[in-house]
Amino acid sequence: MGKRRVQSTKSKRRIYLDHAAATPLDSFVASVMQKTEKAAYGNPSALHHEGLFARTLIEGSRKIIAEGLGVSQKEIIFTSGATESNALVVRGVVEGALRAKQFTQKLPHIIVSAIEHASILETCKNLVIEKKAEVTYVPVQKNGVIDLKALKESFKVETVLVSIQYVNNEIGVVQPLKELAKLIRHHKKTVESKTYPYFHTDAVQAVNYCDMHLPRFGVDFATINSSKIYGPKGVGALYVRRGSSLVSQQYGGVQEFGLRAGTENTIGIFGFGEAFKKAQQLRDKEGRRLTMLRDWCVGELQKHFPEVRFNGDLIMRIPNNINFTLPRHESEELVLRLDARGIAVSAKSACDSASSEISHVIKALYHDADIRSTDGSLRITMGRTTTREDLKKCIQVLVEVSAIMRNVHA
Ligand code: PLP
Repeated sequence: MGKRRVQSTKSKRRIYLDHAAATPLDSFVASVMQKTEKAAYGNPSALHHEGLFARTLIEGSRKIIAEGLGVSQKEIIFTSGATESNALVVRGVVEGALRAKQFTQKLPHIIVSAIEHASILETCKNLVIEKKAEVTYVPVQKNGVIDLKALKESFKVETVLVSIQYVNNEIGVVQPLKELAKLIRHHKKTVESKTYPYFHTDAVQAVNYCDMHLPRFGVDFATINSSKIYGPKGVGALYVRRGSSLVSQQYGGVQEFGLRAGTENTIGIFGFGEAFKKAQQLRDKEGRRLTMLRDWCVGELQKHFPEVRFNGDLIMRIPNNINFTLPRHESEELVLRLDARGIAVSAKSACDSASSEISHVIKALYHDADIRSTDGSLRITMGRTTTREDLKKCIQVLVEVSAIMRNVHA
């Protein structure tokens, strides 16, 4: 009787496999936030006890994150999330160069990879529209790793910023940051300005699984956020290497070392710090567990779908990401049919999900060749609660859904 009840609850349980889009709030983080929230109402810039309490929470979190990244506390700027951090660095560097009248003949130049998150690509696009910058989009190879030769060739005297993500949010590919930093340093030696180009990495998808000791990578700026590491939504941070020239994008108070005006989200920042600490504690163990699950799942998919094509390098990728294409299966239909059967996966970045276009990341891998609009890609991103049983169920449902779709569209 008891057993049957367990089974029926289990069968109704949804299987969440979209951790690259958002992670659930960790229960320990939720509980410490709840316990602290009531007392954290003071303005952290105020001089009284209530203000000082809020300030202590923020600074405690800054310490956790700075120590985890191997940088100084003064180099961490809290923001409302990765979109804001990315906009702050891209716009802030360009405007810094414009104000300093670095280049009198030409506009500041930015280099980004073709597979950056929309928050980078759209900021660049708008800077071009505003005639404030020129942008070069560096292609990636078929495995999703940046084309180093193309990067080398894209440097200009006016290059002020190279922004290349640590880990791609759709295909999970890890970029060789150290090699990129070396190329940038080499180029820096050949130009008059010893300041530029700066190197920024969007490390949002890296925190759970990768080495985050930033001094090892030679970056000047790095973006992270809380909502991908089981922390609260609406909080992020930007690492700004001491001495880098960055113009604030909002005016008002002098919070966050004058780089981000506005009263801080005290409780969100507190939760972010706690979530960051936990993510670091779990990183190696979770990485090993999920690598095993991922490799098993890849094998099962190959067994059930001999025509499957995996997107992105199968080794240089984070442990929780499986991205694959099933020829003649439209992504959106796959996602919706899986959802109706209790399984949450996605086709591409949540920010682009409203559009039925093939993702810019998948297009960049195949250089537009060999992809039909019906060759849908699916992204499975596992998390802390994902089990082999969940993946088994997901594949079983995928097999059923695929058979239905083949029938319907025959
Ligand atoms: N950068 C990457 C790589 C991401 O995956 C995301 C979110 O999916 C963002 C930036 C934007 O994050 P947010 O929506 O928290 O601003």
